Amino acid sequence: MTTEASHPLHVPLPGRPAPVLRAPAPARPAPAPVPALRLPPERLRTGILAGAGAVALLWGLQARPSARLDAVFASGAHLTGLLAGYGVLVLLLLMARVPAVEHGVGADRLARWHALGGRYVLGLIGAHTLLALCGHAVHTRTDVVTATEDLLGYGAIAAATAGTALLVAVGLSSARAVRRRIRHETWRAVHLGALLAAALGFVHQLAGPDLAGSLLTRWLWSMAHGTVAVLLLWYRLVVPVRAALRHDLRVVEVRDEGPGVVSVLVRGRGVARLRAEPGQFFRWRFLRRGLWATALPFSLSAPVRDDTLRITVKALGDHTRRIRRLRPGVRVLATGPFGALTAHRRTRRKVLLLAGGVGITPLRALFETLPGGPGDVTLLYRASDAGGLVLREELESIAGERRAALHYLLGPSDGSFDPLAPRALRDLVPDLAAHDVYLCGPPAMARTATANLIRAGVPASRIHSEDFDHA
Ligand SMILES: Cc1cc2nc3c(=O)[nH]c(=O)nc-3n(C[C@H](O)[C@H](O)[C@H](O)COP(=O)(O)OP(=O)(O)OC[C@H]3O[C@@H](n4cnc5c(N)ncnc54)[C@H](O)[C@@H]3O)c2cc1C
Repeated sequence: MTTEASHPLHVPLPGRPAPVLRAPAPARPAPAPVPALRLPPERLRTGILAGAGAVALLWGLQARPSARLDAVFASGAHLTGLLAGYGVLVLLLLMARVPAVEHGVGADRLARWHALGGRYVLGLIGAHTLLALCGHAVHTRTDVVTATEDLLGYGAIAAATAGTALLVAVGLSSARAVRRRIRHETWRAVHLGALLAAALGFVHQLAGPDLAGSLLTRWLWSMAHGTVAVLLLWYRLVVPVRAALRHDLRVVEVRDEGPGVVSVLVRGRGVARLRAEPGQFFRWRFLRRGLWATALPFSLSAPVRDDTLRITVKALGDHTRRIRRLRPGVRVLATGPFGALTAHRRTRRKVLLLAGGVGITPLRALFETLPGGPGDVTLLYRASDAGGLVLREELESIAGERRAALHYLLGPSDGSFDPLAPRALRDLVPDLAAHDVYLCGPPAMARTATANLIRAGVPASRIHSEDFDHA
């Protein structure tokens, strides 16, 4: 049972008494899902680097050493071209939503790697273009402008130029300043151009001299492209359509959770077979006017029970405001589960869950289900005031039932109140450095909290976070 004395529930605002709420005990969660296959991030990174090494080796085996300037330019163009082609494949693979990769690496980290990789690929394409033009200009004893006109006469090079233009558009639309100004749907539509760019690049590579040397390399290159294309088709098209037909998900309830926040319960056939774990999220498409055209990511705010999934949504923009108006019976297409913020990441007996605002949703599900005895799990929940606490009764009920510590860190976020300073964290969680930390909150809070946790002695490898800004 939760009492104020045995479980310090609040860090109240000065002068405010800490109310104790009594909430019904939560129903028993469904048995833990069978663990999914996961590729750890380090393995994926090593695999990607090994692939780049193999591509460089391929280039090295085909290169004919020469001191002639045009040959040096051409050789550099081949290396950068091959690496750029490989890079595009890696970028597509990172976004193919392969479950083992999603569950092991995490959607937010994949999105960050994809964004970083995109910059490298654009850099490589720029270098390839420049080196190829200089090489051709030196070879034909012309200037770079004439060399450009000459090269554009070749079909495969015109195709590559169109592909490059598409990739530049994708890169520009992803620049922070641009992305903030355009709709998510526009950004996505521009991103689809990357698929066409990859196909045009492939045509260019097969026609060009880079792969002309050996049938084996052409075959390997084609296999790599074919594999990525099949993975994309399978996991981004076939699997979601199959899941929609198989589970027939529908909204069964929309529950008010406080100002601007609702929980949506979605039920379907055989939902347990989705093997969704607490801490994970789905991409939800509600088949209603104003919502069907976009798939929005929302975490499960409770473990799966009775073939029912629950999300808790804060109204922040057009789509999230419309969710409040959903009615029972509305069809739902949900793809997932995605994300790696699961019990699987845990390495220590003691766990600190650190939530900010609506970032409580995945941590609420973990708070209930992470195995552990009294005192093993602590939840710190940061909000500007008590009105901003989401699912509060449930949290208190869970804290009481499993005798876990729950602290609310209420106060303004203007710097005058800093409950996440290293010392404040150590005071709240005495053996902090011995904990695994699961973190989910607004980007600024998550950044500050991560830095402070590290300063308070928690190794970065034990801080597991979900970023609601990247997916
Ligand atoms: C992994 C993950 C889990 C999340 N879980 C929750 C949750 O449990 N509860 C909750 O309230 N919020 C959650 N969010 C945030 C939620 O998805 C966004 O607030 C919501 O998509 C905003 O939609 P909007 O059109 O109302 O707002 P807008 O004002 O249009 O957008 C606000 C922000 O959300 C981003 N966004 C909009 N549409 C999408 C989309 N289709 N995919 C990705 N980002 C998009 C925009 O880029 C923008 O930065 C989560 C986000 C992620 C990435």
